[in-house]
Amino acid sequence: MIDLHTHSTASDGSDSPEALAAMGKAAGLALMALTDHDNTDGTAGFLAACRREGLCGVAGIELSAEVAEGSLHILGLGIDAASEPLQENLTRVIEGREWRNAQMLERLNELGLELTWAEIADLAGQDLISRAHFALALINRGYVSTVAEAFELYLGKGAPAYVDRFRFYPEECIRMIHEAGGIAVAAHPFSWAQDRNILAENLEALKEKGIDGMEVYYSAYSLEERLDLLRIAARLNLQPFAGSDYHGEAKAEIALGAPETPPETEAAIRRLLQQCPGTVWS
Ligand code: AMP
Ligand code: MN
Ligand code: MN
Ligand code: MN
Repeated sequence: MIDLHTHSTASDGSDSPEALAAMGKAAGLALMALTDHDNTDGTAGFLAACRREGLCGVAGIELSAEVAEGSLHILGLGIDAASEPLQENLTRVIEGREWRNAQMLERLNELGLELTWAEIADLAGQDLISRAHFALALINRGYVSTVAEAFELYLGKGAPAYVDRFRFYPEECIRMIHEAGGIAVAAHPFSWAQDRNILAENLEALKEKGIDGMEVYYSAYSLEERLDLLRIAARLNLQPFAGSDYHGEAKAEIALGAPETPPETEAAIRRLLQQCPGTVWS
């Protein structure tokens, strides 16, 4: 079993990078990537733990790309996290997030909700502050009872406290991943478009911009959905990838380990990652 899409406490997951490596080993993973949102803070600890555990580990990242419709996330796998251009670009994303966070807090306060920056920052600890932390703060204050309600009433796209944040265009995401020696993969493609024809057209355009692969064996997708994606991947000659999008307690329904992946797909993924700087082979 392999898993090339997981989150740690460095973004919105609940397990530390080191704990993730140990859990991956215990779950019988043969190959595992850490792909936190917008930052690589966990990768050094993760790779070191993979080395100790005797697990093949991959340094990765998940970037949100600026697209007209739907949402496109791009995974960078096997990246050299020390790449300076990559880190400079990530700083821009994180600054954009901080600006957005401040604006959202202001809007919530204007809506009459008493909430302070300290409460939200406390909840996030060392982690990147996301809307998920805003949701928890709203629950703690008793303004809402669930995360879903927080997004519906205040934080989701189109809701009164929602503020958009800076994202790089897809071609910029792909370029910064390639410059850092990594492989660029379209994550959970149905978030971009559910119509199979539109999705295929979108992915074809993304392939022209240099995308290397697309997630097919993704935990939340049914067998039928995976088959649809597999057909698109075959037609566009894009490498299928496999991941769970594990977040720990934050999304407790998702377990570590991608859905069953054909051995030849696993072998092809390994061959691609073999050439990347951010991979530890055990
Ligand atoms: P951010 O990156 O700060 O915009 O926040 C994105 C995070 O918010 C995601 O990782 C999700 O965990 C969470 N999120 C986004 N939309 C929803 C939603 N509709 N319901 C629950 N959680 C959501
Ligand atoms: Mn997430
Ligand atoms: Mn995603
Ligand atoms: Mn993810």
